[in-house]
Parts: sequence; structure tokens; C-alpha cells
Amino acid sequence: MKIRWKLPLALALTTLIFAGIVTMASALLLQGVFFGRLQDDMSHQAHEYATVLESLPAGSATSSAELEKLTQQVGRAGEVRFTLIAHDGKVLADSDVNPATLENHASRPEVKQALLGREGRARRTSATEKREEVYVAIPLPEGNSGWSKGVLRAAVPASRIDAMLSASWRIPLIVWAILLLPTLAAAFLLTRSITRDLERLRRMTSKVASNELGYRNSVRRSDELGDLGTSLNTMATRLESRDYELTAEMERSDQVLAAMGDGVLLVDGDGRLLRHNPAAGRILGVNLDQAEGNPLVFAARAFPVQALAEKAAEAGHPVTEAVELPGGRFLNIEVAPLSTTGTTPGQTLFVIRDETTRKAVERMRRDFVTNVSHELKTPLAGLSLLSETLAHAVREDPQQAEVFVHQLDHEVKRLIELTRDLLTLSRLEEPEAGQQSDFEVIDMVDLSLNAATEAEAMAEAKSQELTFDLPSEALVRGDAVALRTLIRNLLNNAVRYTDAQGHIRLAIALEQIDDEDWVMLRVTDDGAGIPLAEQERIFERFYRVDKARSRETGGTGLGLSIVRHVAERHGGNVRVTSTVGVGSTFTVRIPSASHEATCL
Ligand code: ADP
Repeated sequence: MKIRWKLPLALALTTLIFAGIVTMASALLLQGVFFGRLQDDMSHQAHEYATVLESLPAGSATSSAELEKLTQQVGRAGEVRFTLIAHDGKVLADSDVNPATLENHASRPEVKQALLGREGRARRTSATEKREEVYVAIPLPEGNSGWSKGVLRAAVPASRIDAMLSASWRIPLIVWAILLLPTLAAAFLLTRSITRDLERLRRMTSKVASNELGYRNSVRRSDELGDLGTSLNTMATRLESRDYELTAEMERSDQVLAAMGDGVLLVDGDGRLLRHNPAAGRILGVNLDQAEGNPLVFAARAFPVQALAEKAAEAGHPVTEAVELPGGRFLNIEVAPLSTTGTTPGQTLFVIRDETTRKAVERMRRDFVTNVSHELKTPLAGLSLLSETLAHAVREDPQQAEVFVHQLDHEVKRLIELTRDLLTLSRLEEPEAGQQSDFEVIDMVDLSLNAATEAEAMAEAKSQELTFDLPSEALVRGDAVALRTLIRNLLNNAVRYTDAQGHIRLAIALEQIDDEDWVMLRVTDDGAGIPLAEQERIFERFYRVDKARSRETGGTGLGLSIVRHVAERHGGNVRVTSTVGVGSTFTVRIPSASHEATCL
């Protein structure tokens, strides 16, 4: 029930109870007063009648018929029943009843008292009238008639006072009923002004609770309710500014977390994910966007969250762990146990760094050094042997010495070739090498003709046919030295891995793929071909399909890895299609720069 109704109802009830109490109290009081007053009146009337009896002449007062008549007259006049009783209790006369029918009254309590010389009063049910009566009996003096030392009793029905009393009961209730409506109206109006403002305050608190922090109440009063309204408004203002600061702080920390390259995970004591940054999902290779609030293990099964958290908690300080995930991912994880604050139990912060690339680079470096050492060892050992043999042959067999000098020369050339390729590779791998800003516009047609001279000579020596299919111009933006190396390597490979009388073709064309212009350079041969399983691996450093043939033809195993490097540095790519015994086709695509030339 609303306060608006509660208060008036409470007021009505209170006044009703009050009216009831007043009614009861006044009834009790009035009952006493009425009763006393009635009995006094009756006593007074009895004494008056007694005086009349006493003043009667001795003779006339002795006849019972006369007494009877007198008593009836007096009783009727005073609306009181008078009973004249002899000192032995015998009823001599009665104003309402025939005395002959009445029994001896000596045992009646009020009569008993009067016979003892005192005024007797009583309220009881009359044996004669069969109703409740109020009695007053007075003793009569000694006289010369039958009533001498007898008793005169006056009786009135009790209903006479009860009627008066019931009338007195009604008065407070009537007053209450008359006052009820104005009381209710006054209470309603009074409470309405309070409840209206209370409603405003209630609405405000519920709005603020549902995060409408800008909502203010409009209660303007000079009482406690007004103070409460002002305090609530001040509280909401503070809450709003705190919320603003908190949101700004959260946004800042979100930005910091998002900008971090390392993955960050905050996990509670039960392993549930509380916060994360995009890098964490990226490094773990899972989507963590819907995972917050759920155990981290559901989203990232392979991540040993519980074991790491326990380890850090046991250590009591941050620990660093190296973890290898399935799929060859290497992670370096810093695990920091956060101290328990307030009711928040221990949380754990994970900072994850992806070491996969670094590990791969490290391994590549190691492999590279091993490979380079191995590649150098063979020609150097050959050189050492040749130089020893040469020293001996110069003295013994000058003709043979000349053969050794040729071999020596061949080995030195291989070493020079290897060193040149290594230098080219290292130059391409330098971070600043091949920066787009250093690039110039190059015509791939000119460059190809220029780079083909060596291959042309080699092809001629093997009686191979080298043909060109070139447009008038094919412009790219790039590094001329690197691109020349790319073309030379592809052409030289084609010549080297194609038998005598074979056919080699260099084609350049302009292409448009997905609205982008490309220069396509294709070297096709009908040589040995490359098995499908090895077609991707031939671009790795020092990888050779046929080691003996590579060495024999002066290969270093670095040619194609240089080709791929150069193509990728220029924003392009290289693809191979080949069938063993049929031939190979190497296709390089580099973004065209023809639009730049037209701009110029
Ligand atoms: P290499 O110096 O050994 O030629 P490359 O990196 O240039 O090294 O080539 C890697 C390997 O790919 C070669 O050893 C060879 O087995 C194979 N290869 C390259 N080009 C051709 C080709 N045109 N035809 C057949 N095999 C080729």
C-alpha cells in the first residue's frame, strides 16, 4: 500500500480508537454520575414520601387501603415504584403491584440495610417485575401505625439510565464520523506533498541505479526532504564525474593494451578471463572477444593457465616461462601474481611474447652459417689439394700443371660466385636495402636484354635456342642491380638445367589483375624439370634438387632464394610450374610503374 493512503488510513484508525476510548471513558464516568444522581433523587423522593407518611393523622394512616391508594398516587406522580414494608418485612403497600401478591421482603439486600437503620441501595433483577431495577430503601421512624420502624423503598427500572447511557455513547462516535472526512482530506493533502517529492526522489535513485547518472531530482523544499534531495543530487554529480574519470581511465588503459605488441591476460583465482588485449588472442591464435568471464581454458585449451598461475603464486613473485604450443609456436610468458585486494582473491597477470619468429630466424641463421661453412669447406679443400698437387706438377709435369691451373681457376670462380651471391643476399636482407624511396623507374625490357648477355653466351655454347618475346616497354619501380640479378639467375638456371639443343624463352607482358597493373616476366625452358614435391623448396637457401649437376654447372644453391627475395622486395612474387622431363616455367610479377611514366 502506498504511503499516500497509509498515512490517512492510520490517522483515521487512530482517531477511531481515540473516539472509542473517549466513548468508553465518558460512558463509565457518566454511568457512575447518572447512577448516583438517580439514587439521590430516589432517596430524596422516598424521604419526601416518608415525611408525608409521618405527617398523616394517626387514624387515617392505619388503613391499608388508604395507604395503598396514597402510595399509588405518590408513585405515579414521581414515576417511581414505592413499596412500603413493615419492620418484619411484610409488604404493606406498593404503588405498582398488589401487596397481597408480594412475598416477605425482609431478605432483599436494600431492605435488610434499611431495617438496620441505614439507607440501602442496590441494582438487581426484580423478583416481582422480572427486570433489572435500581433500588433505594430508607428506614422509617417509629410511629403509631403499621409502617412504624418499617422501610420505604423506591424502585426505578435500570433501563432508564441505560437509555441515557447509550445516548451518551453515540456522541463521540458521531463527532468522529463528522470529523473523519475533513481529517482524511487534511491527511491526504499533507502526505501528498511529501509523497510527491518522495516519488521524485525514488524516481531519481532508480534512474541513477540504472546508470542514468545525469538525472537530477527537482525537489526544492526547506525541510529534511529538501536536504535529502540536495544531497542526492550532489551524490549523483560526484558519481557522474567518478564514472567519467573511470571510463576515461578504462579507455586509456584499453588503448595502451591495444597498442601493446605483447599479449596481456588477466585471470582470476578460478582461471576465468577478466581482461585481455587483441595481441593476446593474436599470439594464442584464438578469439578471446567472447571469452571474458569464462574460464580461459575453454578458449585457449593449449595455454597452461592454471599450472603457470600456481607456479607464480608459489614463488610469490613474477616468473618467466618459455612455453611451446602445438603448431610450433614459441611463447615467452611473464606470469605475475597480483596481491589480494579487499574481497578480490588473487588474480594473475600474463604478459605473452611471441618468440616464434625470433626462434625461426635464430634457427635460420644457425642453419645458414652451417650451410655456408659447408659450402666453403668443399671448394677450399679442393683448392688446398690442387695447390699442393700443382706445386709438385710444376716441377714434374708442366702439361698436367696447366690442367690443375684450370681446375684451380674453376674452384676460385665458384668461390667468387658463392661470395657474390652471399653478398647479394646479405645486401637484400639489410633492413634499409631496397627501400621504396631508393627505387627508380626501370624498363624491364632493356634490363632483360642487358642481363641476358651471359646466358646468351652460355646457350650458344650448348647450342640452345634463346628467344625473346618482349613488348616495347615494361616499366617498374625498383632496384636495377637487384632486378638484373633476378633475370640473370632465372636465365642462367634455364640454360644450366636444360640439355644441349634445348629451347629457352624469355617473355615479358603487361597484365591487369584485380584492377592492378603488373609486369609479368616469364622464363620457360624444356629442360630437366623439377619434381612437384620440391617445387616450393627450391626457393630455400642452398636447396638443390640435383646437387651434382648444380655443382658441376657452377651453382651456389642461392640463385632462386635471391630471385624470391628481390621479387618480394618489389612488392611482387615468383611462381614455378614444372614437369620432370618436360621443362620448367618461372613467372615473376612486379607492380607496374607505367602510370608513373605517363604522369611524368
Ligand atoms: P643452384 O645454384 O643450385 O642453381 P638455385 O637456387 O638457382 O641454385 O636453384 C635451386 C635448385 O632448383 C637447383 O639446384 C636446381 O635443382 C633447381 N632448378 C632451378 N632452376 C631450374 C630449372 N630451370 N630447371 C630445372 N631445375 C631447376
